[in-house]
Amino acid sequence: MIRIYNTLSKKKEDFVPLEEGKVRMYVCGPTVYNFIHIGNARPMIVFDTVRRYMEHKGYEVNFVSNFTDVDDKIIKKANEEGVTAEEISKRYIEECKKDMEGMNIKPATTHPLATREIDGMIDMITTLIDQGYAYAVNGTVYFRTRKFAEYGKLSHKNLDDLQAGNRSLLVSGEQEKEDPLDFVLWKPKKEGEPSWASPWGDGRPGWHIECSVMSRKYLGEQIDIHGGGEDLVFPHHENEIAQSEACSGKLFARYWMHNAFLNIDNKKMSKSLGNFFTVREISEKYDLQVLRFFMLNAHYRSPLNFSTELMESSKNALERIQTAVDNLKYAAEHAQTVELTEEEREILKEAGQYEDKFDEAMDDDFNTADAIAAVFDLVKYANTHAKEGSSRELARFLCEKIQFLCGILGIITEKQGELLDAEIETLIQERQAARKEKNFARADEIRNLLLKKGIVLEDTREGVKWKRA
Ligand code: AMP
Ligand code: ZN
Repeated sequence: MIRIYNTLSKKKEDFVPLEEGKVRMYVCGPTVYNFIHIGNARPMIVFDTVRRYMEHKGYEVNFVSNFTDVDDKIIKKANEEGVTAEEISKRYIEECKKDMEGMNIKPATTHPLATREIDGMIDMITTLIDQGYAYAVNGTVYFRTRKFAEYGKLSHKNLDDLQAGNRSLLVSGEQEKEDPLDFVLWKPKKEGEPSWASPWGDGRPGWHIECSVMSRKYLGEQIDIHGGGEDLVFPHHENEIAQSEACSGKLFARYWMHNAFLNIDNKKMSKSLGNFFTVREISEKYDLQVLRFFMLNAHYRSPLNFSTELMESSKNALERIQTAVDNLKYAAEHAQTVELTEEEREILKEAGQYEDKFDEAMDDDFNTADAIAAVFDLVKYANTHAKEGSSRELARFLCEKIQFLCGILGIITEKQGELLDAEIETLIQERQAARKEKNFARADEIRNLLLKKGIVLEDTREGVKWKRA
């Protein structure tokens, strides 16, 4: 049974999906006005791992994550460059997707764009007005926060405390609000900004309504898991709950998950402080698998400090796993015997405990740090038990088990970078053997694997030739 720490209840709860065998999950995506930084990468890696583990447990996961492609920062950047906001967002969505691929983050089932969902936002705002939860003044639509009785249930805030902290808003030009706690659903057009026609005049949606609408459209009124960074708990997610639940009268998301922040040299990493690295910068020094491995070495609810030393030790640790996999592969290829001996059967049985440990850690609120520790225990166990003279089956089984567990975490155990000539020759031989056995799927897999590494195969009459592209 998977247990999830739910920000709503502040407790770990058993995970029971709305519909048996299925998980509906929404994760707030980035605002696309620049390359993503490694802080933005944390929720991407964390929730991709949650998704992978759910899939490993047999759930069919519908995973939706948006791109916020209309926002003040995008407009500002567009004005600086003298291009349209759309050009900026398109460019950085493409760049973000490249970074995601490098970090082995699976594309979402759907990646909706806010600007393509304006009709749905107008619909939801209209419903909220009709139900008395929202009102329009001079082209702006506000949500009537106090009317939603449960406001504050996610962030565990009390409305009167919020009111006290919010006085300053009254003097910042929002006097037209009925209550300083009310938040914006629709804002009127300003010169030089993208805008859409609406019953309240030309304008654009507020940020919070985007996620309520996209989540409802692609996942339905009720979802299982809603995720994002902890900075989103208030006000973003609190407001999403108010909008969605006021509209449907039903509980919006059952489990709210929030990752802690990634800090840099023990200080909060943020664009405004200028102390951030983009994922692209990191990719110039490290394989992005190292970044993924580094992130998963901490529990997602613990703050994580980024430093060169920690990245170096992650690199070394990942290499230890990759070397073990390489050695086991070599041992399997060169084994003198095929079948397991009686003693080896016992070894395999015992190795099963590490997989149990891995699952136990992941079931406990996705404790990837402990899950990685279980992988290392298995690596150590394999290093001592698969030796010269071991059977092919033993080496193959241990190798595949390590790769399988790493795969659940989205960690690739193949060494990246250039292949050695000998490795290429071995793979080509394996491909020939696969073809002889009419295992064309495996043969194609090897060809594609080589292609990815820049090795092009040519089938000639004299045999297979290869070259580096
Ligand atoms: P934004 O583009 O600012 O809307 O952020 C996209 C996602 O990244 C949100 O889920 C944020 O909570 C998350 N995020 C931003 N900065 C950090 C950070 N330093 N550490 C962890 N998560 C972050
Ligand atoms: Zn959101």
